[in-house]
Amino acid sequence: MPNDYDADVIIIGGGLAGLRAAEILHEGGIRVLVVEAQDRVGGRVFTHPEISCDLGASWFHGTIGNAAYDLSTLAESSKSVLKEEIDDDSDEAADGWKTNMHAQVLGGLPPIRVHADGTRSEIDKQDFYEQLRILVKASNAPIPINEENDVSLYTQIERNLPHERTPLLNEALQLWNGFTEAVTGGDVRDHSTVRNEDYVDLPGGHVAPPGGMTNALVMPLVERLFPCRVRLNSPVKCVQWSADSTMLTLEDETRLVASVVICTVSVSVLKGLRFEPGLPEEKVSALKETGIDAVAKVYFVLGSPLQNAVTGCTQCVVWDDGALDDMPSWARGVRMVYYEMVPVPRVSVWLVSVPATEFELSKEHVAESQLVLTRIFGDVEVTNVYHGGWGKNNRFGGAYSYPRVGAGRERTQRIAAPLCVGEKLKVAFAGEATHPTFYSTMHGALESGEREAKRCIQYLRGESRKEWEVTHPEVEQNSAVS
Ligand SMILES: Cc1cc2nc3c(=O)[nH]c(=O)nc-3n(C[C@H](O)[C@H](O)[C@H](O)COP(=O)(O)OP(=O)(O)OC[C@H]3O[C@@H](n4cnc5c(N)ncnc54)[C@H](O)[C@@H]3O)c2cc1C
Repeated sequence: MPNDYDADVIIIGGGLAGLRAAEILHEGGIRVLVVEAQDRVGGRVFTHPEISCDLGASWFHGTIGNAAYDLSTLAESSKSVLKEEIDDDSDEAADGWKTNMHAQVLGGLPPIRVHADGTRSEIDKQDFYEQLRILVKASNAPIPINEENDVSLYTQIERNLPHERTPLLNEALQLWNGFTEAVTGGDVRDHSTVRNEDYVDLPGGHVAPPGGMTNALVMPLVERLFPCRVRLNSPVKCVQWSADSTMLTLEDETRLVASVVICTVSVSVLKGLRFEPGLPEEKVSALKETGIDAVAKVYFVLGSPLQNAVTGCTQCVVWDDGALDDMPSWARGVRMVYYEMVPVPRVSVWLVSVPATEFELSKEHVAESQLVLTRIFGDVEVTNVYHGGWGKNNRFGGAYSYPRVGAGRERTQRIAAPLCVGEKLKVAFAGEATHPTFYSTMHGALESGEREAKRCIQYLRGESRKEWEVTHPEVEQNSAVS
């Protein structure tokens, strides 16, 4: 291996995929360098230090077989506490997020309807739950059998519901679409019903580590990685790959050369990154078939506790016709609110797609939030607002990837396919969007980093292409060869 390389492997991006790949390469004795655009690592995992809230990922979605859960160094004692909670929760674990939504509605406060005249009324929880059961049935109706018949998640449920619908069913449908969008990360009108089946739910319930995900997962990864090199504030603008080497040009014109590069940026960033020669058509089309949208997890900090609210509870919100007329446009995306007292009184909501983008672009967060929350809860004082800004941040360009209507088979494998020159591995691709069944998650990102690090190790040890390709059998047919 020529020793004038800056590293044997350079990794673009210090998110979970990049950090995990670096750890494995470092353990394997490979000289590795991580170049990260921002002034911190962790990527889409970020616990805000001021109020200890996760602005990015916060849940282990399933704990059995979950690489993120397994790699987190929660104290053994808290792991066993979590384990007990999980065992109690096996029904939820078995049926994924639909049951999770039911649990939140049933376990939460009665849904509230906000009227146009500014008054509020409660909706009977059991009645509302019955509507959700109708929606589950409609969403589980047989799906089209192939890509040609694919429809959006929105159309799928619409066409399986009766034409004559009660107003309450329509209200539950609004909530359903909102919840689906928060889980899947994009507009339900853009999300593929056929390809949605590719995603695999892990068993073991949905649990969040106390103290936030940065402490539980990112910091331990960073500690294990030390003294491997991580270069912060180093955005890459161009990747040139040839038989001799792979060269990165940073935005400040610094050039770095490696034998192999692992690119872990989000699909949105990947679409805009310059490659010379350009990316093969297979990969470009797979990127077009993949969506990534804004998801704003918003925390409103309150000046004082809410009167008559129950802490640690979810409440669904339904807006009557006209109730949103004098509200900021993003308020229509507020469908579920969560109130808690610790460490400070705060309300959190998830906004997705257009409402999330509108919220991210607003400059009047505190004033607007006060207006919206007062309409829901009565008099409240909002003192501060926190959110991740993932959509407008050009280092991410959205929250997590999803398959768009009409997306083809092996979409993720086509994004993952490495760039090779003959027998030489030049650029490998990792990141959540490259995982065939766990895309959009932390565990998907971590497994993808592991996969590509192993591929690089095999390659650098001199194994044949046939051998290093099988670390990810799905890409075998798809590798781009120049
Ligand atoms: C609001 C939100 C909630 C979520 N909730 C959950 C959850 O509860 N559970 C779960 O499992 N998952 C969740 N996710 C998804 C999860 O966070 C991601 O799937 C995962 O963190 C992605 O990791 P990654 O390494 O693939 O990408 P990233 O984290 O995006 O890492 C890529 C890195 O590349 C860097 N970069 C970008 N451009 C360049 C460049 N030009 N040069 C150099 N570096 C660059 C970025 O700064 C970033 O650090 C959530 C995500 C968001 C945004």
